[in-house]
Parts: sequence; structure tokens; C-alpha cells
Amino acid sequence: DPRLQGISEAIRVVPHFPKPGIMFQDITTLLLDHKAFKDTVDIFVDRYRDMDISVVAGVEARGFMFGPAIALAIGAKFVPLRKPRKLPGKVISEAYELEYGTDCLEMHVGAVKPGERAIVIDDLVATGGTLSAAIRLLERSEAEVVECACVIGLREVKGQLRIAVNYRSLSMKML
Ligand code: 5GP
Repeated sequence: DPRLQGISEAIRVVPHFPKPGIMFQDITTLLLDHKAFKDTVDIFVDRYRDMDISVVAGVEARGFMFGPAIALAIGAKFVPLRKPRKLPGKVISEAYELEYGTDCLEMHVGAVKPGERAIVIDDLVATGGTLSAAIRLLERSEAEVVECACVIGLREVKGQLRIAVNYRSLSMKML
């Protein structure tokens, strides 16, 4: 797809952020580039519009920057998967491992109905731990996770291996 190169080029790499040794993939520069931003959303919309998807679940915070546009375009609802203690209603929670320590994602009970077909969106997959927690939240609610969509995959981390559903990224970065 000729659009992928422009998308990759619009992502800024910031060395040593947020700590020494990390090559941070910054998607805020992609959001500033109208063509690259629109191409990113369009590629996912083209893929998912005829797959009978009724749920787009976005991972806080950068999944919120792409998910709603995709949801509106394919006629699906948007479900935010949030960090702990942000959602006001009754929630279910899933912990996941970080490089150091653990974190947690929460989803409102009743946000998805049994049998609904869902995709999960985030900006980047590294180990796949975050997406795996998102998948567990949806599956505990008896939704079917059809695929995970990411703008960036980190090739050398092989995050895909820990993700139990199809996984698709637009830009594979070699660090
Ligand atoms: P994983 O759980 O797959 O190891 O890490 C993915 C999560 O970490 C995503 O929610 C993603 O937003 C965040 N993340 C880790 N490294 C980066 C990075 O370099 N750039 C951005 N934008 N997000 C990152």
C-alpha cells in the first residue's frame, strides 16, 4: 500500500524518552499531518467496514486518538478501555505485566453485549501485554475479538506472539 510509507515517515522517533535507552515512537506528529492521519484511519476503515464489527475498543490513551474515527466510519460503537479508577460505573479489570511492575485496564460492565464482534485498537504493540489484557476484558464480556489493530508494531519484540487473535499494524519499526 503506497500510503504506508507516508504514515511511517510521519511518526517521530524520540531517543531516550521517557528514560535513557528507549526509542519512543511519537504518534503526535502523525496527528499533525492531515494526509497521514486520514490515511491511517482510512486503511483501518477499509479493512473493517464489511466485517460486521459493532465494537471498536480503544486502549487509553493513544487508542482514543484513532478508535472513535474508525468506529464512526464503520458504524460501530466506541468502548474506552481505561486505566484504573477512571470509569465511574461498575467495571471489570484485567492486570498486565509491564517491564517493571504491573498495570491494569478497566471496562464498564454492560458496554458490550454477548456475541458482539469487536476490534481492539492501540497505537503501538511491543510485548503484546496491553492488548492481551484488552482481549481478556472483551472475552470475559463474551464479545468476539476479531482482530487487534495497531499503527506501529515493534518487529524485534515479537509482541504478536503473545496475542491470541489476529494482529495487524501499519508500520513495523526496526529499532
Ligand atoms: P506492550 O504492552 O505491547 O508491551 O506495550 C504497548 C503499550 O505501551 C501501548 O499502550 C503503547 O501506547 C505503549 N508504548 C510503549 N512504547 C511506546 C512508544 O515508543 N511509543 C508509543 N506511542 N507508545 C508506546
